[in-house]
Amino acid sequence: MPLLTVDGIVIKNADYKENDRMLTVFTPEYGALGVSVKGCRKKGNTNIACSEIFSFCEFVLFENKGKYSVNSFSLKEAFYPLREDFDKLSCASFCCELVYLSSDHGNVKSDALFSMLYYALSYICYTDNNPLDLALCFAFRALLELGYAPSLTSCAICGGDLRQSTKAAFSSTHGGALCSKCAGGFDVHISVLSLEAVRRMMKLQDSEMRKVVLPPEVREELLPLTVEFCETVLERKLKSGKTIGKIV
Ligand SMILES: [Zn+2]
Repeated sequence: MPLLTVDGIVIKNADYKENDRMLTVFTPEYGALGVSVKGCRKKGNTNIACSEIFSFCEFVLFENKGKYSVNSFSLKEAFYPLREDFDKLSCASFCCELVYLSSDHGNVKSDALFSMLYYALSYICYTDNNPLDLALCFAFRALLELGYAPSLTSCAICGGDLRQSTKAAFSSTHGGALCSKCAGGFDVHISVLSLEAVRRMMKLQDSEMRKVVLPPEVREELLPLTVEFCETVLERKLKSGKTIGKIV
């Protein structure tokens, strides 16, 4: 049977059968792979370490008719502190769920998204930055990478320049910010400060993500709007969206 050696981060896992686990492993080369880990939930089985959510491993996988199972692995990073803090756990889960839902959306540049996820999890895990700021920064940068960046400098309907506007709204269904003339009754108000914060976050490099420190009112305004925008473009509900909504 052919073996495949690949770096990957576990972005989703589920128990199945008596002792097994099914993983979704996000890899730089192949995007998301479904991988089974046989017997890992048996007492004393050391394969359990590679089957935990967020585990970053070098996996050696068996491939059989397009299905993968773990042959061996070397754990590079467990991101263990994420499991000990509700806010960090919720934000890290949100980043992983976003990658999971985007993985069936066409041309995902896996290597760029992988690097972004690695940095986001590392900073959420090991820095004192507000984990929501990192999750929001990750979300907008991931959307940009996936080709779903919201319109921010011009109105998503009429194209009018928003950079000098003092008032704007945001509409997920129209794909971004709207000028006050185009905004309808159901569109959400967005402050000039929040718009500028998103513009700046999307320009950052992976290693610069920890520079993001959002004012509380911007964080509060951006969070529901970001979750809704992600759900609209990915056409799926984010389970973690509700959880992170409780952190603010
Ligand atoms: Zn307009």
